[in-house]
Amino acid sequence: MLDSTQMIARVRNDSTMLAKLSEINSRYFFHFDVKKHYGRKKVFSDKNKFNRYDCDDLLENVIAREYIDFAKIIWKIRDNSEQYTKYRSETDRLKSNDAQRGAERLGIPVWKYTDIESREYWNMIKTPVLSSEIECIVQYISPKGKKEQSKSRVYPIEMIEDRYQQIRLKNERLSSKENKAKAERAKMSAKLRYQILQRDGFKCQICGRGAKDGVKLHVDHIIPVSKGGKTVPENLRTLCDQCNFGKGADI
Ligand SMILES: [Zn+2]
Repeated sequence: MLDSTQMIARVRNDSTMLAKLSEINSRYFFHFDVKKHYGRKKVFSDKNKFNRYDCDDLLENVIAREYIDFAKIIWKIRDNSEQYTKYRSETDRLKSNDAQRGAERLGIPVWKYTDIESREYWNMIKTPVLSSEIECIVQYISPKGKKEQSKSRVYPIEMIEDRYQQIRLKNERLSSKENKAKAERAKMSAKLRYQILQRDGFKCQICGRGAKDGVKLHVDHIIPVSKGGKTVPENLRTLCDQCNFGKGADI
């Protein structure tokens, strides 16, 4: 009498369905170094800081520090899913069509043969990770460790990519705004500055004082460059340092 391990080995050797499955298996390479669940945690001992910091903030922080690693994970999961669809369409087509003769060959009942065959089939089917999530936990532990509070949120892993793109676009927009402002400020030439001073009669356009009154004159943007103001005569005026001061830094 054969024991069950030997029986399984024999069915495995005999079954054309399992032979086909192992051939299919040899053609698919899934990424098994990804997990279904990732967790990140931030702990505060200051209650106010804890209140001001939420799970989204932690997610942004994770993105800033670990984006490249998570981008790889996301890519692997996507690749797993794509491959898995093809894999299953091949493996789903496999049928046990030789069980009757196989059982005769091995001298065991047909039900036993098909039972082992189907169990082996499911053992051999590859089960890669097809979706993943990241849990962000923000925790407060009082300095003496007596009080505890936490908030957590679970995000689908793809959210990391979406958020990253949003942040990137936002940064690009900001930097293009900064570059524009820089270019606008650079238009202020010595010649233009002199032209404005001359136009304004070398006098502050608010208090009317000039160099002979002991004040220093500046050429000021009426609408600040940071608010979209241009470096053109219509948007420029002469101010003394005292009037310019307190108006908020512009140049
Ligand atoms: Zn003045």
